[in-house]
Amino acid sequence: MIVCKFGGTSLADAARIRQIAAILRKDPARRFAVVSAPGKRFDGDEKVTDLLLRAAQGDQTALGAALARFAEISAHLGVGMERELRRAGEEIPVCGADYAASRGEYLCAYMTAKYLRWEFVDAAEVICLRDGTADLEHTYDRLLRRLKPLKNAVIPGFYGATAQGEIRTFPRGGSDITGALVAGAMGACLYENWTDVDGLMSADPRLVENTVCVPAVSYRQMRLLSAMGAQVLHPDSLLPVMRAGIPTALKNSFHPERPGTRISTAHGAKTPCLTGRALESGAALLAALTPEAMELTGKALAALKETGVRPRWLGAWSDRLLLRVKGRCFPEALRALHRALVEEI
Ligand code: ASP
Repeated sequence: MIVCKFGGTSLADAARIRQIAAILRKDPARRFAVVSAPGKRFDGDEKVTDLLLRAAQGDQTALGAALARFAEISAHLGVGMERELRRAGEEIPVCGADYAASRGEYLCAYMTAKYLRWEFVDAAEVICLRDGTADLEHTYDRLLRRLKPLKNAVIPGFYGATAQGEIRTFPRGGSDITGALVAGAMGACLYENWTDVDGLMSADPRLVENTVCVPAVSYRQMRLLSAMGAQVLHPDSLLPVMRAGIPTALKNSFHPERPGTRISTAHGAKTPCLTGRALESGAALLAALTPEAMELTGKALAALKETGVRPRWLGAWSDRLLLRVKGRCFPEALRALHRALVEEI
């Protein structure tokens, strides 16, 4: 059994929802789907979650825009949502930010479930939150009891309920966590995380040319990359599946035929991956994860020297290089290292 999570861009309009329905129907093992709220359709568009957060602060235009997105998508899909949208329109302005933000996932999951003719399971019933994080024992117990008898279900990501029944959200991007919890609780053989990119790329394609998709990476490496700034998966979504020994597949819903990236306890990346993050001092820390970090240190330093970037600090371990560079040198340093460590290899 496979648990699938779909990110906001994969649900941004009716055509994309039809596409994910095709993905789900293609393999009957894909029994449970966790969905985000509709994301951006084009550059400059707004995510439904951002609109809802503004709506919670009294912005009526944002509320209207969020509800209009759902009305348009549901009309195209031929799914009746009038009652749900009317209720959301009344509740959102008076129920607080977490409740408002959660309605993006709630409405999206409800709509997708109706379209697929799958069961809708409200996350408030099954995801138990305590002090902002999932209460694993109660969450797993409820997920198992509620989902086990079902053939298929769609579950909203990003939120759950406290013991007092109040709706609370995870941090932004938290639908990844819900997906991992569902996969962990149900003992899935695979957690598929579907987005609009091919998988883990050797560096951020917005900053670097000629990036390649990394076919396999270990959970340990992925956690390190997340901690170092790689924004591929929410870092809290790694533990539930890692502990249960469930591999995660990163897949592109726009190109489902592409192999994507497999994260598991077994494999290590053979392709170097580069990431980094800003430091408070105005410097940036750059991490190159590679199976032969020690051997590549000289190469990395030579590449940086050529571009005139002098690292302020460097550390090399068997599987990674860490470099501190001036913040403004970061993009240049990243490109130089990518050319030397990834493109050449
Ligand atoms: N919709 C939420 C966000 O925009 C959660 C998610 O997409 O995972 O952050």
